Amino acid sequence: MNRTCPSCQKEVRDDDLMCPHCSELILDDPQENKAYICPVCGAENPQGVKSCQFCCSILPEIIS
Ligand SMILES: [Zn+2]
Ligand SMILES: [Zn+2]
Repeated sequence: MNRTCPSCQKEVRDDDLMCPHCSELILDDPQENKAYICPVCGAENPQGVKSCQFCCSILPEIIS
């Protein structure tokens, strides 16, 4: 799957750190290390947990 530059929307390669078209710096996909914020206590939980690791509240399903 190709990535697109967030600035000029042209295709860039997976390993490009900078857009070859407009020289915009391209950050890694933010979805890869997305933390899940507990709606009760506000703590960050890793993806895939069923209940908050801090206050033990049941977390709703993460819609991706
Ligand atoms: Zn670009
Ligand atoms: Zn919590």
